[in-house]
Amino acid sequence: MKEIIDGFLKFQRNVFPERAELFRTLANQQNPRALFISCSDSRLVPELVTQREPGDLFVIRNAGNIVPSYGPEPGGVTASVEYAVSVLKVNDIVICGHSDCGAMTAIAGCHCLDSMPAVSHWLRYADSARVVNESRTHISLQAKTASMVRENVIAQLANLQTHPSVRLALEEGRLALHGWVYDIERGDIAAYNGASGQFVSLAENPNTCAMPLRSLSAA
Ligand SMILES: [Zn+2]
Repeated sequence: MKEIIDGFLKFQRNVFPERAELFRTLANQQNPRALFISCSDSRLVPELVTQREPGDLFVIRNAGNIVPSYGPEPGGVTASVEYAVSVLKVNDIVICGHSDCGAMTAIAGCHCLDSMPAVSHWLRYADSARVVNESRTHISLQAKTASMVRENVIAQLANLQTHPSVRLALEEGRLALHGWVYDIERGDIAAYNGASGQFVSLAENPNTCAMPLRSLSAA
């Protein structure tokens, strides 16, 4: 804990004064243009990977970068999605999984989660990805886990679209969806191309989108 408090003292002493103008601007308002939904994993830092400043990203993090499908008893993720889309009116939502994900490793490896009932329950929101992934042949457990990470991103993009606020924003052509997988070791991102159903290098294909802005003229 000492390192964390020392870090804060360093921030207050060195970093904050240099950025005082930015924080003054942000004191009473925020206007983030993207909602970033990622795993809680300590190795994936959204603002670092995307080089964003305070105020740029509205972030939801949880085990497995999961978005429960919309239902009659909405929870914290649902409330945060609704606020980001309906009030902050973000233009983009990124769902970002990552390599070596503990949650996806547990699912792919069929690990017994009896001692973690809350985790076990939570990961049921990835069931559609698990079923699809189990139906395929994988050359190794490592390959199966990597495939599970990608399938989970696709499944959560589908879950996201059960949310009324998201459906409306897509319908009104003011929201685009993105599905990413971050590779911790290589510092690379694979992005889901919704049109082809394939993951491609974001660096080589920077315009890759899971669901682009809907053209209202084509509606
Ligand atoms: Zn993870």
